[in-house]
Amino acid sequence: MGASVFPVGYDALVARLRQAGCVWAEEEARLLLAVDGGPETLADLVDRRVAGEPLEYLLGWAEFCGERIEVDPGVFVPRARTALLVSTAVAVTGPAATVVELCCGSGAISRVLARRLAAPRLLAAVDVDPAAVACARRNLAAVGVPVLAGDLFDPLPAAWRGRLDLVVANAPYVPTVAMALLPPEARRYESAAALDGGSDGLAVLRRLAAAAPQWLAPGGHLVVEVGQTQVERFRAVLSEAGLVPSVVRDDAADATAMTGRCPDDVAGGRYEN
Ligand code: GLN
Repeated sequence: MGASVFPVGYDALVARLRQAGCVWAEEEARLLLAVDGGPETLADLVDRRVAGEPLEYLLGWAEFCGERIEVDPGVFVPRARTALLVSTAVAVTGPAATVVELCCGSGAISRVLARRLAAPRLLAAVDVDPAAVACARRNLAAVGVPVLAGDLFDPLPAAWRGRLDLVVANAPYVPTVAMALLPPEARRYESAAALDGGSDGLAVLRRLAAAAPQWLAPGGHLVVEVGQTQVERFRAVLSEAGLVPSVVRDDAADATAMTGRCPDDVAGGRYEN
């Protein structure tokens, strides 16, 4: 071991992380000390953490709803607040539901839904970013969910139209002007495409809402996450798309989930030729 290698002890590491502004210094120190590798590896990880790299990229995983999810550099790190989107999706979805996740990133949501829904038929997870697709494939292999590359519904087989009980997506919703205000960990290290939702933050969600009625089964739900200030605008977007909107809020987690329900009786009879 080289004499310059630092730090080696738990207390010294906690102090260094705290000084660098890490709020959960004890927890981070414990996780970093548990990484396989010698003192050089640890010193390198600590230097990178102190310089601002997200802990999850250094560890290679993030905890989400009790699951350990692999995350690759640049791929959106699953946030604790997105647990509300998961519980909202479970609450509106019956047994043996057909489920698709769009904008899947690491695939964290599908991985948890595979465990929480009763007899789910998780048909696919989709992302436009090849790095996210590769990462999601690793996270979803164990639960048997295929991961497709493409924009929103584009890569899905046409035969699934009108048949999905649940479409879930944590799409990008940060207004472009607010990108500069994100924590540096997100702004500097995560793919901007996973966060930037255009001028009012709803550009991708608007396209998603507009297309969803063609894919949802009667009574099926679109479930997404939005920022709290976007609720009224997105409620109108869902209504205009012909979906029945509702909102679930968790103040403690600063989380907002919105659902759009496809009416049971859809005018136009999608199953007719
Ligand atoms: N900054 C938001 C968050 O942390 C971004 C999420 C998103 O755009 N999907 O939840």
